[in-house]
Amino acid sequence: MRLILLGAPGAGKGTVAKLLTSVDGSVQISTGDILRAAVKAGTELGKKAEAAMKAGELVSDDLIMGIMGERLLEDDCKAGFLLDGFPRTIPQAEALKVLLTKLNIELDAAVNLDVPRDVILDRLTTRRTCVDCGAIYNVKSSPCKVEGVCDVDGCGGNVVQRDDETEEAISKRLDVFNEQTAPLVGFYKGEDMLLDINATSSDAVVDAIKAKVGI
Ligand code: AMP
Repeated sequence: MRLILLGAPGAGKGTVAKLLTSVDGSVQISTGDILRAAVKAGTELGKKAEAAMKAGELVSDDLIMGIMGERLLEDDCKAGFLLDGFPRTIPQAEALKVLLTKLNIELDAAVNLDVPRDVILDRLTTRRTCVDCGAIYNVKSSPCKVEGVCDVDGCGGNVVQRDDETEEAISKRLDVFNEQTAPLVGFYKGEDMLLDINATSSDAVVDAIKAKVGI
């Protein structure tokens, strides 16, 4: 399947994308994960993105389109892809439309995960991430077996609160989402591609998506 996953930070895009990859082999493409890996590796891309990410702001559309223009050409995308955290602005959505037309690729839907703000705030302030493999934990609902140590076989990395998941950065990210990303719902409605889902359980979201895509 080929989907865009829209939703505020903490809406569950990453969790839903991970569940969907096992349905038909579609690959999860998270621009946030790509950028975090670049920051960690100290690449040019990472250096350009780091300050904006720490502040909870968006990195430039040009940088993101450079990443995605290359990523969508990779072989693993042929089985389908789940765009997690991209597009995030109207110019990115317009550039994606042009890119997909050029590549002759049609999307199944843009899925809007609509989750109440209090649920989002609670999820983000309690979320913890492994700095090595990116596994996600939650101090309340799914803590690590040993505090601060990743459970994933062969990983054992440090599990920490992301720099952009302090209360200040979260509040900034939600403002940025409301201003710059929320208008994409209208954009994809206009393209007749929108699938609105009001569910907080990831399994219910996955079922609604499977029904829409016909799997
Ligand atoms: P995420 O893990 O998707 O919440 O992304 C973490 C951070 O990476 C965001 O707060 C932005 O600074 C940056 N980022 C990720 N995806 C994009 C995008 N499509 N456009 C601009 N910035 C992005």
